[in-house]
This record gives sequence, C-alpha cells and structure tokens, in this order.
Amino acid sequence: MNLKNLNKIIEKEPAFRKKQIEKLIYQDAIDDWDNATVLPLKLREELKKETSLKIKAEIFKSKNVEKALITLEDNSQIETVLMKHDDRTTVCVSSQVGCALGCKFCATGKLGFKRNLETEEILEQVLVFKRKERIRNIVFMGMGEPFLNYDNVLNAVKILNNENAFNIGARHISISTVGITEGIEKLSNEKLQVNLAISLHAPNNNLRLKLMPISKKYSLENILKTVNEYIKKTNRKVMFEYTLIDNVNDSIENAKELSKIMKHPLYMVNLIKYNDTEEFKAPSNEKIKRFKNYLEKGGINVTERYRFGGDIHAACGQLCLKK
Ligand code: SAH
Ligand code: SF4
Repeated sequence: MNLKNLNKIIEKEPAFRKKQIEKLIYQDAIDDWDNATVLPLKLREELKKETSLKIKAEIFKSKNVEKALITLEDNSQIETVLMKHDDRTTVCVSSQVGCALGCKFCATGKLGFKRNLETEEILEQVLVFKRKERIRNIVFMGMGEPFLNYDNVLNAVKILNNENAFNIGARHISISTVGITEGIEKLSNEKLQVNLAISLHAPNNNLRLKLMPISKKYSLENILKTVNEYIKKTNRKVMFEYTLIDNVNDSIENAKELSKIMKHPLYMVNLIKYNDTEEFKAPSNEKIKRFKNYLEKGGINVTERYRFGGDIHAACGQLCLKK
C-alpha cells in the first residue's frame, strides 16, 4: 500500500472528499479504487495512478490464529497476527521493523532495529485482516517498542478510533511498552481511553537488567512512579505483563517480591507462559499454578494469558520473519 501522494490529490478536491476517501480506505476497507464508485471517474483514475491500495502479504493459518508477513514498499518485512477467541477478534500489530532493545528472551529483539513504521504502515496491518473480518480489538504487541515510535503510533491510534475510519473503541486498543517513561507520561495527557500494558518480567532491577538491557535507563522504581502518576491522571487500570520463564523468574521468592510491588487496586498482573526459544523454556503448568496462587493469596489481581499460534511462529515474542 502506498498513500504518500494521497494528500496532494485530496488538497485539490472539495473538503468533503477527504472524509469520503478516508471512509473508503479505512471503514469500507476497499482494496481497489475501481470499487470506489462514489467518486468521480477522473478522480478514481488519478488515485489509481498515484496511490496503491495493494498490500503485499503472505498469510499463514493455524487454529484460531493467522499471521500475515507483510512486505513494505522498501522491501522491509513485518509481521501481524490475527487472533480469534470467543466472539473477539484481535489484531496484534507491529510498531517498528525489528526492535533496538534486545530483550534476551525475545526473538524480535534478536533481529535488531531497522526503522520506525509510518502511520499508514501500522494501519495497513489492520486492513489486511479487516478486508475479510470484523475487527474488535487492537494490541500494539507485535514487533518493536511503540513508545519509541510515539507520534506514528498515536496517529494510528487516532485513526483506528475515528468513527469515520476504523471506529474501534479506545478501550479496545492496548499499547504495550517495556516502560519508556516519556511515552507513559505523554499518553497520560492524550485524553484517550486506551489501555496501557507494561512488560515487567522481573520483580527486581537486578534480574530485570539481565533480561532487558533497557532497564539500565528505566529502573523499576522510575517506571512504577510514572505509572502511578498516569493512574492519578487517568484513573485507568494498568496491566503488567509477566512472562514466566523456567528457572529464571518463576520461583516463589520471585512471586513474593512481585506481590510486594504489585499491591495496588488498579494494577493487574497478566502471567504469560513463555513461548520456548533455544535459550529459554517455559515452566511446567504446576509451577505456573503455584506462582499464580501465591499472588492471588497476596490479594494481587492476576490473570493468565492463554497462548496460541506457536505452530506458525505467531505467538508472543516469536515474530522474527520465520515462516
Ligand atoms: N516492545 C513492546 C511490545 C511487544 S509486546 C514490549 O516489549 O512490551 C510483546 C510481549 O511479549 C512483551 O511483553 C514481551 O516481553 C513478550 N515476549 C517476548 N518474547 C516472548 C516469548 N518468547 N514468550 C512469551 N512472551 C514473550
Ligand atoms: Fe523489543 Fe519488546 Fe522484544 Fe524487548 S520484548 S526486544 S522491547 S519487542
């Protein structure tokens, strides 16, 4: 898809055309300008020549999950995942090509960083699936760190939320960050009801630093302080993601430390069973249960994320352009 010349074309048109075209691209999700029959033929021809709605994507399917490997204009590749559970359809989008933060357990981190995605490249990932399914939820939990591409991510969120475009409720949009405090602060001033998730994965700075090098810049204390300010301003719940990795962060001692820092009525802990890589493995289900029970007994709000998509390399942390 390439909409770089779109503004140039819209500029010359009467004001209502902009809305009409936005609706065609994002709400009606047309994949060919020939289907834009509400537009005058001459304009349609110009749009056809100067922009493209074609998305180059290879789709992989598994039970309840589809993965799209999208090739962008500059031949960079990104991955997007569609998940279907109960009546909810969620698209997990990428915010960057690769990721610069190199978390030890994450396959995307191993790819390194290539570049930020443009707003339309973020939206294109939702369109791939919207052209055939009704989409209810969006999570920014694919490749990359959303808050290191703040402006394009927020622009995309606004278009996803816009009634004339995707019309997805802000409460159905979640952004996950390793804890870039500047981003959390900015988000708290946006007056948007989107959900914030923090990738925690360790209950203390020492362990977190071993797993996530960026912890050097953003300490746990700093992140929690910023999150508390966010909560004060927005009065919204915050989700803490804790991926359980065998013999790394899954001991009762770890659970004890975690329950000490997670005691807050608006904190939710989401436990995720690790998706195995060469270096790290998932704990047994018994160990996960024991960890979860410990937190529950301590009065922590805790949920467990069901994992799927592993067979097509579509699960959390597995997005690394492998087929
Ligand atoms: N960069 C952002 C957005 C990516 S979200 C962030 O890290 O928050 C992807 C989530 O999956 C993160 O919480 C990440 O830590 C987690 N993850 C990475 N590798 C994983 C793996 N192998 N198994 C389970 N979760 C993993
Ligand atoms: Fe980047 Fe998130 Fe993976 Fe860390 S977990 S390397 S921040 S995508």
